[in-house]
Amino acid sequence: MERVAEGVWLLRGDLRRSMNVYFIEDGDGVVQFDAGTKAMRRKVRAAADQLGGLKRILLGHAHADHRGTAPYLGAPVYCHADDVADAESDASIAPYMDLSQLPVAPVRWIYPFLLRHWDGGAVKIAGTVAEGDEVAGFRVVHFPGHAPGLIGLWRESDRLALVSDTIYLVDSARLKPLPEGEASVPHPTWAWDHAQAKQSVRKLAALEPKVVGTGHAEPLRGENLRETLERAAEKY
Ligand SMILES: [Zn+2]
Repeated sequence: MERVAEGVWLLRGDLRRSMNVYFIEDGDGVVQFDAGTKAMRRKVRAAADQLGGLKRILLGHAHADHRGTAPYLGAPVYCHADDVADAESDASIAPYMDLSQLPVAPVRWIYPFLLRHWDGGAVKIAGTVAEGDEVAGFRVVHFPGHAPGLIGLWRESDRLALVSDTIYLVDSARLKPLPEGEASVPHPTWAWDHAQAKQSVRKLAALEPKVVGTGHAEPLRGENLRETLERAAEKY
């Protein structure tokens, strides 16, 4: 586990350690933000136990690689109201995803297998959160676009944003990392509404974060992340 900031831990796992699960200390236990892939369930459970025990899981959104461990941990699962239907669905591929938009054929062919392999199946949602709600010292921010109910967590005191797939540091269309310091709006293939996804990246930029913990790859750090994020919102 890596320490991201005061009271915040990151567990990276599965494919090239690219799947991120965050733990936020909350009293005598932790809140888990995002749930990674099914293959990570034992490591996630052990990590949560080491930090005092899992109080609840909050899904950044309901995609297969973000809900994978959620059915296996025995903790109540929360998400934004606009992602409840997808979280509770058996489908590993959200109805709005259009894999035919992926430009590289082998990547296009492998994704249905990957998504089914990563998925832990339908998740029973115990309750919902909305923009402005407080969670373990963070404020919920709605970043719709990549998924309708995509949410992030924002902590003003140290300008830390945990944002799930609001922004990518990987090239998902080619399954490789982006060059160091670069970020991008997630590929339109995955988007519920790509124009809104860009708008959400601008919303994140306007917060002027110092650290952005994403759903995949290392957290983004720097003094000028606003510019990096605004530049990303202009691409695709
Ligand atoms: Zn996603």
